[in-house]
Amino acid sequence: MSNKLFDVNTVYSTHVQNDGWKPEVRNGVDAGTTGQSKRLEAFKLKLEVPDGLEVKVMKRAHVEEFGWLDPVYGDDDICGTVGLGKELQAIQLQLYGKDAGQYEIWFQLHVRNKGWMNWMSGGELAGTVGLALQAEDIRIMVFKKGVSLKTDGVVGFVEYVAPPAQDPVANANMAGKYFSWAELACDCAKPEYGFGWCDGYPEQDLKNQNAPYLIDILDRLREYLGAMIIVTSMIRCGDCNDHWGGISGSYHTSWQAADIVVPGFTPYEVAVAANELTGCGARYYRSSGFTHLEPPGCGVYCQE
Ligand SMILES: [Zn+2]
Ligand SMILES: [Zn+2]
Repeated sequence: MSNKLFDVNTVYSTHVQNDGWKPEVRNGVDAGTTGQSKRLEAFKLKLEVPDGLEVKVMKRAHVEEFGWLDPVYGDDDICGTVGLGKELQAIQLQLYGKDAGQYEIWFQLHVRNKGWMNWMSGGELAGTVGLALQAEDIRIMVFKKGVSLKTDGVVGFVEYVAPPAQDPVANANMAGKYFSWAELACDCAKPEYGFGWCDGYPEQDLKNQNAPYLIDILDRLREYLGAMIIVTSMIRCGDCNDHWGGISGSYHTSWQAADIVVPGFTPYEVAVAANELTGCGARYYRSSGFTHLEPPGCGVYCQE
C-alpha cells in the first residue's frame, strides 16, 4: 500500500446548471463540465482517510451576488447554492484535524473565459472574485505534503477590486456649486453685449480675494430658496460699470456685489432671505425687479 498515489481520497460531486447533481468522482477527476457554458452552482466534498488518522476539510464557496458563504465542514454539506441559479465563482479548501499537517489538499477550477486555472493548495483561494465569471468544472486531490501541482506563470485566483471612487475633478468652469464663471463674468464676455473692454474677469486679485465670499452667499441662497437664481450682473470692469451708470467704485467693480433675480420671489423676499441667511447687505430694487447683494453693512434696504 505504500506506493499508492492517494492515501487520502477525495470524493466529490457538483451541482451544475441544467444538469443538477452529477455523479461522484474521486481524486482529481473532472466533476463538472467544460465547453458547455454551464455554471457550477455547488459541490460536495468528503475525504476517505486511513483508519486511525484524523484529516478533515473546511470548504467555502464564493457565489454570485452573495460573495463568500460561511464555511461548511460536513461530508454532505453543500458548498454553494442549489435552486437559486447562482454561479459559483471561487472556492477555498483547507485541511484540518490532528493529522492534517502530513497532507495537502489541491484544487483547481475551470472558469469561463479562463479555462483551467492553476492548482491551489490548502487555505488558498481558487477561481475569480469580482469578475462575474462562472466556474464550470473542478478537480480536487489530497497528497502527502511535499509535492506541488502548480504550473509557473498560471494564475489560480484573481480578485478584481474596483478602484476607489475618485474625488470629483474640480470643474474650472464652475465658480460655486451652482454657478459657472461665465454667469458671473463682466458683460464684456457676454456675446449679447460684446463690449470688449475686458476679458470678462478683470481685477484678478480682487476676484481671488472677494469672489468666494459672494459665491458662497449665492450657493447658500440657492439651496435655501430651492429656486433658480439668475445673476444679471456681478463683476463689472470700470468701463462696463460706467456704461451701466453704476456709481464709481461700486462693489461690482471689485467682485463684491451681485444683482440677482429669483423667479417666484419678489426682490424684497430675496433681500430678506439673503440677509437673514448670510448677514450680507441686500438692496432691493422694487421697480427694476432685482436684488443687489453686497458685503454686510446696509442690511435690507429698499433702493426703489
Ligand atoms: Zn468688462
Ligand atoms: Zn448691484
